[in-house]
Amino acid sequence: MRAASVTNTQTNYHARWVVPVTRPPLAGATVSVAGARITYVGPRRDAPPGEDIELGDAVLLPGLVNAHTHLELTAMRGLLTGLDFVSWIRTLTAARAAVLTPAAMRDAACLGVAEGLLAGITTYADTSASGVVLGAMRDMGVRGIMYQEVFGPAAAQRAEAMAQLRRDVEALRPFETDLVHLGVSPHAVYTVHEDLMIDAAAYAAGAGLPVAIHLAESDAETAFLREAEGPFAEGLRARGLPVERRSHSPVHLLVELGVVLARPLLIHCVKLDESDVDFIAHYGCPVAHCPASNAVLGHGIAPVRELLDAGAVVGLGSDSAASNDQMDILGEARLASLMQSARLQRPDVLSTAEALALATMGGARALGLDERVGSIEVGKDADLAAFRLDPVRAATLGPEAAALAIAGTPAVLVTVAGQPRVRDGAVLGLDPMLAGRVTDSAAALVAWRHSLPAR
Ligand SMILES: [Zn+2]
Repeated sequence: MRAASVTNTQTNYHARWVVPVTRPPLAGATVSVAGARITYVGPRRDAPPGEDIELGDAVLLPGLVNAHTHLELTAMRGLLTGLDFVSWIRTLTAARAAVLTPAAMRDAACLGVAEGLLAGITTYADTSASGVVLGAMRDMGVRGIMYQEVFGPAAAQRAEAMAQLRRDVEALRPFETDLVHLGVSPHAVYTVHEDLMIDAAAYAAGAGLPVAIHLAESDAETAFLREAEGPFAEGLRARGLPVERRSHSPVHLLVELGVVLARPLLIHCVKLDESDVDFIAHYGCPVAHCPASNAVLGHGIAPVRELLDAGAVVGLGSDSAASNDQMDILGEARLASLMQSARLQRPDVLSTAEALALATMGGARALGLDERVGSIEVGKDADLAAFRLDPVRAATLGPEAAALAIAGTPAVLVTVAGQPRVRDGAVLGLDPMLAGRVTDSAAALVAWRHSLPAR
């Protein structure tokens, strides 16, 4: 009877290719799931009895990990195209304040998760100013960390900003689940005074919360710290705030402040020198690499090869819809691989297999979730994503490269902790009115942008 009950509760996903990531791809293989967990990975002939699901000419991957996004900004796609970085940030902040209600941002976050699910993304690392994203991820049945953002470039804002951060976090803690958790994000070195940065990191460490910081994204950020010059410095001086030379680089500043001891997730890390790379590896701070966003905003290409060679953990992020026209981590993996070869001017600097590993295990390690997700292994949670794959392409490319090449194709199956979330290219249980509401928000944002004085 015991065996029969196990049989009844086990699901066997059969696919032409299974890519476990932590070991070589398997052809003609099966992944068995019972409850939330993976119970078998191997040849179909040896699979235990269970309900059979035929995925056919598909590649079955671990659920993809988006190591950096802002889901509440999903209605802003294309809104800020062409702006320089400082204008982009200011316009984004003003648009959010003028147009987007908390309900609108929650809808946008749900729609962003739906887009991500169709792209096979099961885990989200989201930095949120509004705090609505924790509930959105929970409603959509995905895994994630929502880092509550805190801002405050003036020394005088320190106490009030910390009090607000504590209130925000305490209000959200009851809504954490096994799948969705909270973190803290002092936004960036040019929007957060260094005393507040220290306080936020200390608070997070004391409360057992992970930390994420946007870091070393632009030349303007380096100029702000190294020379006390550039648009960020001018902006703060215009507000009557003192700006002084602070440090060699954003990474050096975090070392000098001791904030690296909280091992924050460092978002972007485009503008690094050798000493920065060494510090990141030495202190074990994971990096969220966002190749498309960095390209859209004209920031450059992060030294991913050097970070990996130094032993740093790297995951891949889409960043927000305000700086990326897609949320597609397979697409980011393909871009990451291509851009490293373009940057270093030699082939295969970051192989497709390694890029796919960044999109899965790399992201999971960056978020401290690699014991549970990031690869297809017995005992791990069943976060899975399957995509149709052309056998002709797969024959020459291999399943890993072929998977990167089909970025943009909707998944045929996505599960989170064993629960199906996508079947045959459709998100299960999606509110049919959701897209209409977010379309209204997007139209309101466009009307607001057109109402601005011409630049
Ligand atoms: Zn960001």
